[in-house]
This record gives sequence, C-alpha cells and structure tokens, in this order.
Amino acid sequence: MSRSAHPAGPRHGDVLPEGHYLAPPSDLNALDPKVWARTVTRDAEGVATVGGRDGVGGLDVKALAAEFGTPAYILDEQDFRTRARAWRDAFGDGADVYYAGKAFLSKAIVRWLREEGLNLDVCSAGELAVALAAGMPGERIALHGNNKTAQELEHAVKAGVGHIVVDSYQEIELLAAIAESQGVRQPILIRVTVGVEAHTHEFIATAHEDQKFGLSLSGGAAAEAVRRVLAKDSLELRGIHSHIGSQIFDTAGFEVSARRLVGLLAEVRDEHGVELPEIDLGGGLGIAYTSEDDPKQPAEIAASLAEIVRRECASAQLKAPRISVEPGRAIVGPTAFTLYEVGTIKPLEGLRTYVSVDGGMSDNIRTALYDAEYSVALVSRTSEAAPMLVRVVGKHCESGDIVVRDAFLPADLAAGDLIAVPATGAYCRSMASNYNHALRPPVVAVDADGARVIVRRETEEDLLRLDIG
Ligand SMILES: *Cc1c(COP(=O)(O)O)cnc(C)c1O
Repeated sequence: MSRSAHPAGPRHGDVLPEGHYLAPPSDLNALDPKVWARTVTRDAEGVATVGGRDGVGGLDVKALAAEFGTPAYILDEQDFRTRARAWRDAFGDGADVYYAGKAFLSKAIVRWLREEGLNLDVCSAGELAVALAAGMPGERIALHGNNKTAQELEHAVKAGVGHIVVDSYQEIELLAAIAESQGVRQPILIRVTVGVEAHTHEFIATAHEDQKFGLSLSGGAAAEAVRRVLAKDSLELRGIHSHIGSQIFDTAGFEVSARRLVGLLAEVRDEHGVELPEIDLGGGLGIAYTSEDDPKQPAEIAASLAEIVRRECASAQLKAPRISVEPGRAIVGPTAFTLYEVGTIKPLEGLRTYVSVDGGMSDNIRTALYDAEYSVALVSRTSEAAPMLVRVVGKHCESGDIVVRDAFLPADLAAGDLIAVPATGAYCRSMASNYNHALRPPVVAVDADGARVIVRRETEEDLLRLDIG
C-alpha cells in the first residue's frame, strides 16, 4: 500500500512523505459510510448500532459486547449480500464471479454466496472442505495454489470442481495422472504471469515476473504450458488466468493484463487452432480503509473490463471469451468491524498516546505485515472532547503489535470504552493466529432480525485439545 495516503504528524517524529500532516477529522463522532458496513449508524444515545431495517432497530455495540464479548468481528450480513449481488449483477450472465474464500470463509459465507449466485475460489484442502461442508456444488468451486499437493488435487477432482487453476509444469503432469486415474477429463485454467506491477504493496502484487505464482507470458512458459496441457487427454484447457495483486484502485493494471491475456489467446489460436473460451482476470480491487481511499464500484469495473476484452478480441478477430473475476476483499472487507474494549491508556509526553485493546496482531496482522492503514472510532458513546493523537496497540509481546498506527480518538477516552476498527472483514479472521495463546475472536453476523455467531470464539479447551502433551 502506498504510504502517501497515510499522513502522520511530523511533530511526533515519524519519517513522512513530504507535505502530509495528520489532521484530526472535523467530527470525531462521525462514522464515515465509506469505511463502515452499510447498516452501521448511531442511535439517539450516540451508541453505534448495526443491522436493523433502513437505519432503525439495529443492535447496539454495548449489547453485542455484553452478549458476545470482545474482541469480536461483527459482520453485517445484509451488506455482504448486497455487495455479492452487486458484483454478480455488474457482470451479468456473460461472466462468472468467484468469491476468493481466502479473504474470509465460513459455512455461513458459503451459504450466502450460494444463495446470491456467486461461485467460490478455494486455495487449500481446508477451504475446499468448508465449501463442500456448506453445500457449495463442486462445479461452482475453483481451486488455486502454487504448490497443491497430490491429495488436494485428488480431493478436488473427486469433488468435481469446476476448474483447477494450474500453476506449474509439475502440476500439469500430476493433475493429468490423477484425472486419468479417476477416469475424468478435468477442466483447467493456466495461471499466467502477465508482467504487470500493480501499484500496491510488494508482498501483495503478484503478476510481476519475479515471484512464485504463475507461468511467465513473456518468457514463454505460459505458451509451453498450453502445449503440455493440450497433449493431455485427461485435461480440458478452458482458458487462462491472471491475478495481478490486491488493494488496487485503478483499472489500468487490469487493462494491460486483459490485453496480454487476449494476446495469448490469439497465439494459442494461431499455433493450435483452438479458441479458448474463458479468461479469468483475478481479484484485487481495493476498498476504503480510511476516508481518503476511493474505491471503484463493481459496475464501473465490470464495464471497463468487458469493454477492453471486447475491443482486444475484436482486433485479434477472436470470439470474446467468457470473463471470470475473483473479488475477495471488495466483497467481505467493508462488511465487518472489529469491536475492542479499551484497556491501558499510556500518554507519552511529546510523542503520542498508546491505547491498548484486548486483541491485537493475533486478530489483525495486516498493520504489522503490510503497513496497512485503518481507521478507528469510539463506538460505545459519543464525545465532545478534543481529538487526541493515538496509536492503537494490542496486548501481545511485540512492540510491532499495532492495530492502527495513527488515528484520533477523543481525549476523554477511558478504560472500558468500546472502540471499533472498520473494514476488517477481509484477511483479519482468516489470518488470525494464536500468538501468545490468544483465543481467536468470534465472527458475529448481524442482520435485520438479530445477531448470530457464525464462527465461535476459541476457548482454552480448544488450545489444550491440540496440545497432547
Ligand atoms: C487473493 C486472490 C484473490 C482475491 O484477492 P482480493 O484482493 O481479496 O480481491 C483472487 N484471486 C486469486 C488467485 C488470489 O490469489
């Protein structure tokens, strides 16, 4: 992620890009709809609520904390369904939307996807098991991964997954043998490295050349993979796939990627006389973590991707292939917030105030891992106190255990207040750990009718069950 949208006060000693100052928001009590789940608002007493119908009758966060404890991920089911539907509708019948399960997966999520007409990407045996346990039909599942095991491939072929995205020559051989032994002709896509540097954090930009994913387009490995796959009777080559990164805000990278994928389709037609019917442009669309982020809407993205594919195919005299996309973060990210209780508050004279919460890097590793930016708000009440520059930190034994690097909270913040970090639906619970033997928080789904735990909080018994002495 670019740090340019990450202002911080120079008087606090941080090394900063030129000209950026951390200014407190004009209204500390406001819950910007850009970063909060759709049904989040405040009630007449100033307590944040979520769920309800048309902004009334939501559940207040104090009641949620009392019932489910903190920290907890609170997920707005209506928002999830609305976003999933928006993606499906934006692309229409001529395309497939695969939700990237690694962003956050549970049985309830799989059910909602099934009901809203989306497909599902998985990238491990574990994710596949959850998908199947929740009744996702095999043909609506796609399997990814740069190092799938024989067991994972066997399981996927047996489950009849719609396609497997093949990532290496070795996998072509292994999968062909497995499909043959099961007497199946397995549909596949080939993962191609298109050489696009998405403007995002290095660790989540995945289509430049020097990386572990995919087969290089420019180096000829992708074309060679096509040759090898076409020579296997047990593999059915449906098309090609590219995923250029994550938390991307412009479509320029996707346009280059689409152009290069269509170029490969034309080469395949010229060399082999086959027109592959599908291209998959991957996921990676960004969301707003702070009020400064301006993500694009699915309809806009769909229109520009469809147009570029149509145009490139017309100029290559190819029939336009069916498009797939794989949004993860863009669907689930904005739909949840993490609810924490404030504990220790430590003002460091001339520096900043450290606000400790009852979770931390075990429930949100993204700040430590990617320098991710988040916002935070006092949600159990409003306050008219002056803004105070804070760093929200967890309770783990690491000084890098930071949840929100720089933010403002009211100066009268006190132990026992509830604060919440919005836009934690993606890559927080799914990357959660038991570091320091923390108990991973529950995911509580809220809809118009109430709240329901969809993933329960871990217990000490859960930890001890794995530790067999
Ligand atoms: C991670 C990933 C996605 C989803 O990325 P988001 O940034 O969450 O949209 C989609 N496809 C592939 C292959 C991925 O690895």
